[in-house]
Amino acid sequence: MRPERYSLTGAEEKKPEKKQGAGISRREFLAAGLGALAALSQRGDKPSRGEAPLEQPADREFTENFLLLSISRGETPSFLREGAKKLTPEGFVWHAANAEPLSESRKAELLDTAKTVSAEFGAEILWYLKEAHFFAEKKAIPPQPRFSGWAENDLPVDDIKDFFTKGGFPRGTIMGNVAGIRYDTFTDPNMQEGYRRVYGENRSLPSATASLENRLTFYRQPNSTQFEAVSELVHSFRRTAPHEVGHASSWMNRKGMKLSDRLAFLKDALAVYEEKERSKVLVWLRTRHSTGDEPADYEKIQNPNAKLQKYLQVEEMTADLFALYLDMNMPPVKFAGAGQEKGTFGYNATDKEKNLIHRYFLKDDPNFDPQKAWTIRHDTEYNFRRKMNALVKRKNWFVLEH
Ligand SMILES: [Zn+2]
Repeated sequence: MRPERYSLTGAEEKKPEKKQGAGISRREFLAAGLGALAALSQRGDKPSRGEAPLEQPADREFTENFLLLSISRGETPSFLREGAKKLTPEGFVWHAANAEPLSESRKAELLDTAKTVSAEFGAEILWYLKEAHFFAEKKAIPPQPRFSGWAENDLPVDDIKDFFTKGGFPRGTIMGNVAGIRYDTFTDPNMQEGYRRVYGENRSLPSATASLENRLTFYRQPNSTQFEAVSELVHSFRRTAPHEVGHASSWMNRKGMKLSDRLAFLKDALAVYEEKERSKVLVWLRTRHSTGDEPADYEKIQNPNAKLQKYLQVEEMTADLFALYLDMNMPPVKFAGAGQEKGTFGYNATDKEKNLIHRYFLKDDPNFDPQKAWTIRHDTEYNFRRKMNALVKRKNWFVLEH
């Protein structure tokens, strides 16, 4: 679980394995993360002894945000424990060239991309991407995701398993990529606080999250009644589940990607973000109506650091785009097809969007048939919904609780 640390002198510094991950509760994880956050406020910004020349300590704001982000997802990846860093574009290329064969021209191209990404999002994002890469390559993902918290809450776990594992998603995005899918209560004040501080006050608490360990968690919102919780969950399966699978299959999270491809994925997502028209379609996706003026959900993200804000918006937009691709019930020709008019299903995907879907999300499944997958998700969701409705009636959950 613990990524090795790579120094830029080429020597690998290995730390003794600490007991971590398995056998540690989420609460302990959170406490550790908050401890690290407290330690930060006492630390100077000078590089520590023995630090690699191409890495420098991150701006404190970034480090805090990375930690809060992890806390809000109920995780604290080991690479964040000592504080985030900045990585130069040259340092990034050094790491990529150590991990995969790269020709001189490919290196030059990668350096250009790394410079763009660093200028847009900050040198911290290059460091985070590099660390997330080594973390992803080491994380142990079971052949099938583990399901937890469902049966314990009387929820029909077999139908939920079918929804995720019977072919409703592109190959490589769930099996061998998602470690676990669980149901939990979003009541930890640290998680809520972390989320609000990173994403701003404009966004409501998430109904689900994807952690860097690729655990998807569907949440019961604090203070919700059981009836509200079940309604929200049913709704989640249509919209939120594909969105979270999108996160688990993006540049930071996906298992089995080259470091250079992770960077290219991020840069290609930035290119889509800069095509502003997308936001209107994505508003429609979430709400099924749009006046054409309101911001998309990802545009509501606010962070005091403008570069990080942009990064977080690109991350969310990309997960939304993947969900859009899956949700529109369209074979590829129609996804590329005609007529984007208000209130219709037609949607002109741009070449940049098609590139993002096909080159990255469908990289292990080039012949993925979205129509067939939609039918599978629809059918399994129907079974799930039917059982949930029966459950709500049987348990009399319509009655409001306090
Ligand atoms: Zn998201």
